[in-house]
Amino acid sequence: MSKRTAVITGASAGIGEATARALAKAGLHVVLGARRLDRLEKLADEVSGTAHVLDVTDPSSVAAFVQQIPQCHVLVNNAGGARGLERVVDADEDHWRWMWEVNVLGTLRMTKALLPKLIESGDGHVVSVTSVAGYEVYDGGSGYTSAKHAQSALHRTLRSEHLGDPVRITEIVPGMVETEFSANRFDGDTERAANVYRGLTPLTAEDVAEVIAFAVTRPSHVNLDQIVLKPRAQYNGSRAHRE
Ligand code: NAP
Repeated sequence: MSKRTAVITGASAGIGEATARALAKAGLHVVLGARRLDRLEKLADEVSGTAHVLDVTDPSSVAAFVQQIPQCHVLVNNAGGARGLERVVDADEDHWRWMWEVNVLGTLRMTKALLPKLIESGDGHVVSVTSVAGYEVYDGGSGYTSAKHAQSALHRTLRSEHLGDPVRITEIVPGMVETEFSANRFDGDTERAANVYRGLTPLTAEDVAEVIAFAVTRPSHVNLDQIVLKPRAQYNGSRAHRE
């Protein structure tokens, strides 16, 4: 296989799906991972990529996924999300466990499993999609913000630990992006989800994917450490201008 290979987790929807299209367009062979294989297979057909089922919260699923990948130049740690919006006093431990498993341990497992192949490629790149929630806190957000802070800390540690290795490390820090994220967060309540984006123009998954593709297609000696992107109308995680 002469093309560079990019593995994208959470490629069945939203930012991951758009990133798969953007990286395929940039000339990479894309390997798509998520739990909904039907969606992945459709996308793989469209972009001439490869689809494998992947649950980043399950070590045996990660091991089986990685075993099917002969080479890897780019890993996009994108699988993740939020559950609920409970204040600390009402914290739901199942929500917390889910958020820590998928965002933090999922990123850890995938990175640990693929780093040897990334380094062996001679020109590797780890891209992690964290969030402005990795840098801020807001009422009701402690489960998600704490998981995103931890994912960001883990990701940034790689930059120092692998200084001198042929691997680039880029953190993508989005603000509000209109995807299935909020509907999943609110257990399928689409009205509540739509309210998150009310009165402003949020980022699209494609806006984020283009930025990821830009970082990945820089020359090998150029490391974009961290890219923060938000809708123009969003100041931070808790303040936005709405018409
Ligand atoms: P989304 O539309 O809900 O997509 C989430 C993706 O993650 C899906 O493809 C889902 O696929 C996958 N996923 C969930 N659990 C998984 C698991 N256990 N194993 C493998 N894949 C799993 O949300 P999105 O907005 O694109 O989110 C992508 C990333 O961006 C997340 O890390 C999120 O925290 C971050 N982010 C989002 C926003 C936003 O406003 N939307 C802002 C900042 C950061 P399956 O269900 O098929 O497994």
